[in-house]
Amino acid sequence: MNALDTLIELSSQMELEHAEESRGGFDTPSANASGYSTTNKPACFTPKEKRAAFTHAAQLPNGKQVVLLKTLLSSACERDCYYCPFRAGRDFRRATFKPQEFAELFMKMNKAKMAEGIFLSSGIAAGGANTQNKIIDTAEILRKKMGFRGYMHLKIMPGAEKGQVERMMQLADRVSVNLEAPNTERLAKLAPHKIFIEELLRPLKWVEEIRRSQPAYKFWNGKYPSTVTQFVAGGSDESDLELLTTTNWLMKNVRLTRAYFSAFFPIRDTPLENKAAVDPLREHRLYQASFLLRDYGFDLEDMPFTQNENLPLHADPKMAWAQMNLKEKPIEINKAERRDLLRIPGIGPKHADAILQARRATKLRDLTALRKMGIIVARVSPFVLLDGRRAESQLAMF
Ligand code: SF4
Repeated sequence: MNALDTLIELSSQMELEHAEESRGGFDTPSANASGYSTTNKPACFTPKEKRAAFTHAAQLPNGKQVVLLKTLLSSACERDCYYCPFRAGRDFRRATFKPQEFAELFMKMNKAKMAEGIFLSSGIAAGGANTQNKIIDTAEILRKKMGFRGYMHLKIMPGAEKGQVERMMQLADRVSVNLEAPNTERLAKLAPHKIFIEELLRPLKWVEEIRRSQPAYKFWNGKYPSTVTQFVAGGSDESDLELLTTTNWLMKNVRLTRAYFSAFFPIRDTPLENKAAVDPLREHRLYQASFLLRDYGFDLEDMPFTQNENLPLHADPKMAWAQMNLKEKPIEINKAERRDLLRIPGIGPKHADAILQARRATKLRDLTALRKMGIIVARVSPFVLLDGRRAESQLAMF
């Protein structure tokens, strides 16, 4: 197998791994080597199809768009997580890169402008610490020997040691640990040999401890790497309340940048192959709710959970909250504090700041002023007053 074929083998199923803000485009792998029907052989792929097999258009935390190579160092794994296509014993062709081999291939792609950044994970072989060393070796070759200065997101393996986490933080822009489930009990239904507290939660705490104990200049590019995690939404029959409780705790206590929610999808030849797929809309609602917790000052108690502690699938959680709380008590745009403005559907942090600034110069009396700030007035109008008058009455003008 040549290096490109290895990459295509390894990158199949990586769409299960959400990383950075995917923007579609290249996000649909056309090669699928883990036991799924693949009618094309790599040699038959057009250059665009080859690229689509392993690169993904992504938006970095600073808003920059990059093409990210998202792959594994190895698809061989000794663990047997119930949902995972790479689990031990599953029958498909495995592939493994040596660190040097992968680094050389990536740099070729980088020079050919096929990939600008890397998201690198791996199946586990001979223990998490051993596998972590291989990821670190790869990153060191890229940064130190080959001078790669682009974006790098490295996965922390279950079983990694604290010194390894620190080294990863010195090399990467982002590090992540996949919690997969919100707590120990739920994880047992998904990954019987992963230990929630010791193997998964503890490294996330280490990242924050290291950030607090060392100056930023010691890290790659003079900045602390960000931290994210991923959950398999619906994979362990957990509720949205459980997922968001853990997410909220992580954002508050270990400065998690964000959680990714990957709606469970059954994989053939795994113990969960007959479990029903989870509606992808659930991912969307979880993202909306997690952003409300992170950026909009909402608390878990504000979330419109149903009796079974899930978010309603067909209601935007912010809109649902506003329908219950603002319909009869609209917010006066000219007097509200920033945190109250953020409670209004259609108003985000930038809009709130624009309102506060505009208000210093003049009273806002009609929806036109809001529309000029890029606010969708149809969303806002049922919940606000403009200079004491219901804005809804002006809506017919738009
Ligand atoms: S440890 Fe990772 S690669 Fe291995 S089976 Fe579990 S989820 Fe899959």
